[in-house]
Amino acid sequence: MRILVIGSGGREHALVWKLSQSPGVRVYAAPGNPGMASCGTCIEVKGSYLEVAEGVGADLTVVGPEAPLVAGVVDEFRGAGKWIVGPTKENARLEGSKIFAKQFFKQHGIPTAEFVAVETHEEARRALGRFRFPVVIKADGLAAGKGVVIAEDRAAAERAVEALGPRLVIEEYLEGEEVSFIALCDGRDVLPFAPTQDHKRVNDGDTGPNTGGMGAYCDSRILTEAETERVLDTVMRPAVEATAFTGFLYAGLIMTADGPQVLEFNVRLGDPETQPLMHRMTKDFAPVLESAARGELGRHRLEWRRGASVCVVLASGGYPGSYATGAAIRGIEEAEAAGATVFHAGTRVGARGLETAGGRVLGVTAAGQDLRSAIQRAYEAVGKIEFVGMHYRRDIGRKGLRRYEVGGGGVR
Ligand code: AMP
Repeated sequence: MRILVIGSGGREHALVWKLSQSPGVRVYAAPGNPGMASCGTCIEVKGSYLEVAEGVGADLTVVGPEAPLVAGVVDEFRGAGKWIVGPTKENARLEGSKIFAKQFFKQHGIPTAEFVAVETHEEARRALGRFRFPVVIKADGLAAGKGVVIAEDRAAAERAVEALGPRLVIEEYLEGEEVSFIALCDGRDVLPFAPTQDHKRVNDGDTGPNTGGMGAYCDSRILTEAETERVLDTVMRPAVEATAFTGFLYAGLIMTADGPQVLEFNVRLGDPETQPLMHRMTKDFAPVLESAARGELGRHRLEWRRGASVCVVLASGGYPGSYATGAAIRGIEEAEAAGATVFHAGTRVGARGLETAGGRVLGVTAAGQDLRSAIQRAYEAVGKIEFVGMHYRRDIGRKGLRRYEVGGGGVR
């Protein structure tokens, strides 16, 4: 079987890495990156993705990023009779527009924060009067996780309206643990992944501006079985029933005292959540994806290694603001020798060998028999890697430790 993965980031490297371990599977990546080149074949994208898929004779295509989904790549493939995992253009609107998503949640009784959608700065200012502080202000449209401001007072809220408006969602601030709940869907059945937690803020202790994600961990203890069932019943199944959703449905949840509330839907796998998920998954993934594309997920079950997995993102100096590229990267082999898998996100091969080519550069991912040992192994490997300007969070997974180990186990 030939599988094509669309995308060029850390999420796609993790997918290609995992699928390359499936017996009898050859993996292609379009356009891929230098990391994927070591476990699959990277194909330059000259025309359409459909042309790439036909060119390599792909039996199945898996879409990583949201942009091609929003542009309708799934409809195009299906129109040509090709198997693909992803949502239709129509369903991709669940991610493309926050206003659309909030209206969808409301219409289908899916629990979500109280909100107002506004079209002008004037409407926004009026709407602010209806909320307590802090209040959450979100730009409509794709913002790669960066178009959200949590405003502590009226002045900060007005500044956010100026910066992000005029089309905005203004919503109630929710208190609780944030969980990434991802499921593979085939239009009818919903196959949940193990729960993960992302770390969106750039600095330790969840401070500083939002990023695309500075690290994630996967540990089944993030949700109890009862909580998982409740998310399936109140969020995932109603959404799939309403839309015949196909592909990866990712619910960003806050587990409040009143149960799970949806912050947002993404219509693809999370980045960096995919890195610890693929690392921890023991099940042969290719047949599962094939069944999903054919609408035959049926009774497939996913299986996970005991313990936990952790991904620490190494970013370029200045990210999530402006940053330089072209810094030489050293130490990946040593990091892998220390027991981690290093997924490439923003890298290229340049004059000096492997160089930085993006804001998020690498995702250093490791497993352990428990969360503490997975964290230790990941950071040991991080210590082997260097590039000019490199920065990363030093507390990925710590919020999990705080929950599972009495008193946080003295972690700092
Ligand atoms: P979003 O792009 O909607 O996922 O928002 C980005 C981040 O802002 C989330 O990961 C949360 O940490 C935070 N956030 C968004 N909406 C809320 C809310 N209603 N209450 C609390 N935090 C929120």
